[in-house]
Amino acid sequence: MADCPACKKKGIGVEKITVANHAKESCWPLVDEKYSICENPECEVIYFTAPGTRVLTRTDVKTRVTFKEKKAPRPLCYCKQVTEEDVVKSIEKGASTFEEVAEATGIGGGGHCAVTNPAGRCCSRNYKPFIERELKKRKR
Ligand SMILES: [Zn+2]
Repeated sequence: MADCPACKKKGIGVEKITVANHAKESCWPLVDEKYSICENPECEVIYFTAPGTRVLTRTDVKTRVTFKEKKAPRPLCYCKQVTEEDVVKSIEKGASTFEEVAEATGIGGGGHCAVTNPAGRCCSRNYKPFIERELKKRKR
C-alpha cells in the first residue's frame, strides 16, 4: 500500500469509482492509477495515487469525510445519510440499545458503501463503535 505524499502515513486502497463519486467535477478526468485514501485526521490530503501523479485534498472533494472533519455534521452512515449528531439525539430521546438507535435513525443496511462512503468501506466499522461508545457514556 502506498504512503500519503503529504504526511507519509500508509493509505488504504480505494476503487476509482469511489474517488470519482466524491471528487469535484473540477478534478476530472481522473487518471487510471491505483488510488488510496489518507486516514490521518490532521492531513489535508484525501485521495492520492501511486506512483503519485494525482493528489486530491479536502477542497477537491465534495463529500464530508468523517475522520477529516472536526465539526458537526460528521457523517456516520453515508448510504442512509445519518450523522453522529442524529445518533446522539436518538439516545437523548430514549434509545438505549444498538437496535433502538438503528431503528430511530435508520442507520445501516444501505449496501452502497463502495460508492457512498468516501473510504469505499462499509460504514458499520464507523457507526458500530460510535453508537456503543455513546450508549456506554450514558449508562453510569
Ligand atoms: Zn496524509
